This record gives sequence, structure tokens and C-alpha cells, in this order.
Amino acid sequence: MASANQFDIQNPLTQYPQPEFPKQPQPVPGLASKMQPVPDHGEKSYKGFGRLKGRKALVTGGDSGIGRAAAIAFAREGADVAINYLPEEQSDADEVIKLIEAEGRKAVAIPGDLKSEEFCKDLVERAHSELGGLDLVANVAGRQKAVESIADLTTEQFDETFKTNVYALFWICKAALPLLPEGATIINTASIQAYEPSASLLDYAPTKSSIVAFSKALSKQVIEQGVRVNVVAPGPVWTPLQTSGGQPQEAIVKFGSQVPMKRPGQPAECAPLYVFLASQESSYITGEVFGVTGGNTLP
Ligand code: NAD
Ligand code: MG
Repeated sequence: MASANQFDIQNPLTQYPQPEFPKQPQPVPGLASKMQPVPDHGEKSYKGFGRLKGRKALVTGGDSGIGRAAAIAFAREGADVAINYLPEEQSDADEVIKLIEAEGRKAVAIPGDLKSEEFCKDLVERAHSELGGLDLVANVAGRQKAVESIADLTTEQFDETFKTNVYALFWICKAALPLLPEGATIINTASIQAYEPSASLLDYAPTKSSIVAFSKALSKQVIEQGVRVNVVAPGPVWTPLQTSGGQPQEAIVKFGSQVPMKRPGQPAECAPLYVFLASQESSYITGEVFGVTGGNTLP
């Protein structure tokens, strides 16, 4: 049962839908609006308290899933937010832009493909100029396509997954750092897959361990500049990434059943961690990885 807001006490086991789910293939990247059930990104429930008042945020993958939940939460906590997504996802993005603007915050939509270094640089520059500053970068975009055998995993796919998940992160951080003021925060998105890789995610899982190592190394460099870098590592979360090929459709039916909570997490359940890591409340925390895994704990 979804709650009035994120503070209502209730049993987490029954708080959100449990498997089985219908098979629901969609072409990549997939739309949140077409999922059954539609994910909870906190649209109705996330309650903010000004914890990010006046902040200027860039969220990649901000149209759907975990990125959308972070974008909504950032806006409700008082931040102006730029979101990036792929052009095919415009209808999901439009919903997020409306929700940010409904908070009286500035919303900037910057569609484009993160596999291009030129675009990543341009994205950061546009977010910075259109928001009138930048002090929060949440790298949430990612690509995941299950392939059962290494024999069928193409170089093109291996390359695209690394470009989207790792190179784009490098390009965005590199472009953003000269613009970030003291106190700014970077939040990167890894996965339980960094530690417990699935057989069918031979390209994706190592991108996620790369993100962990990259973020820890970067955190040690940039703390000199007063910038903190932390990582969120989700377990199974109900998003289009999973239903549009991240998992085989047979696995969608029982998605989330493998964790102690026996259900997938919802994007809304990830957002409070992004808010905490973005805000000055987490001032003595950098280079850390935090799981949101339904009990399938990180090592
Ligand atoms: P999602 O599909 O809602 O979000 C992923 C987003 O990545 C898409 O909306 C799209 O805008 C963006 N994207 C993909 N390729 C892109 C490209 N080339 N250029 C620009 N944008 C691109 O799914 P999600 O599950 O919310 O994914 C968000 C992050 O969470 C990803 O990094 C994913 O690896 C990570 N994650 C998800 C799960 C899960 O179970 N859903 C678990 C662990 C980690
Ligand atoms: Mg999307």
C-alpha cells in the first residue's frame, strides 16, 4: 500500500507491489508510463523540507525510474533541476518537467545521447548556464541488456554499455568539476551487480564495479576542492531499464522475489538516499557506497 508520504510507518514487505508481474516487453529505453504496474517515483508521496534549498542539480536519466524519483525529490527539497534523457523518452520527461515546475522550481530539459563526449560536455555547460550555476550532479542514466551467453555478446553491445555507464560518467564529472563550488556533491549510481554479478550481465556488472572504483578514486582527488562523491547501489528496482530488456521477460514475472523483502524496490524508495547524499547533512561522508537492496546486503 503506497503511503501518504515517505514517513508513514508501515510494513515494508507489503508497502509496494509484490511478484508476480505481467510480462511486458518494450523497445529500449522503455517508458515508465507503459509499465504495469506504473512505478512509484514519489509523484504523490515525496514530502520535502527545504533540505536542498537553492541548490542547482543535474540528473541524468531524470525522465524515469530512479533518476525521476531523485529529480522529483530534489525539486521538492527546493532545488532547481535539469534532466537529461534520450529523445525517445520525451513523454516521460514532460511529466517530470511538469512536476518540478509545480514546486515553483526551475526545470530544464536537455535530451541527448550520453555516449557522445561532445554531448556530455555540452550537457554540463547547458545545465550550468540555464540553471545559473551547478552544485549537484546525480549520474543516474544507465544501460542494461541481458545476454545469456558470452558467445552472443557483441563488441557493439559491450562498447555501448561501457560508453553509457562508465565513459559518460567520466566525461560528465570531468566537465562539471571546474564549475562546481565548494560544498557541491556528486552522486553516482552503481548496483548490487558490482558485487554479485548475474551470469547474463557480463558487460553491465563490470561497468557497475568500475563506477564504484571510479567514484572512490575521484572522491579522494576532489575533496581537496571541497566536493564530495558518493555512490548509491540499488538492488532490483521496478523501472523500464529492467522491463525493456534488462532482464529476460521470464525474470520480470518474479522480479524482486530473490531478495529478503521478496519484492522489487520502487524508485521512490531510492530518492531519500540521493537527497541525503546531496545535502550538507552528509558533510563527513565521501567515497562511500550505500545499498538500497531489500535486504540483499552489500559486502
Ligand atoms: P530507467 O530506464 O528508468 O533509467 C535509465 C535511464 O538511462 C533512462 O531513462 C535513459 O534516460 C538513460 N539512458 C540510457 N542510455 C542513455 C544514453 N545513451 N544517453 C542518455 N541517457 C541514457 O531505469 P533505472 O533502473 O531507474 O536506472 C537508473 C540507474 O539505476 C542505472 O544506472 C541503472 O544501472 C541503475 N540500477 C538500476 C537497478 C534496477 O533494478 N532498476 C538496479 C541497480 C542499479
Ligand atoms: Mg527512461
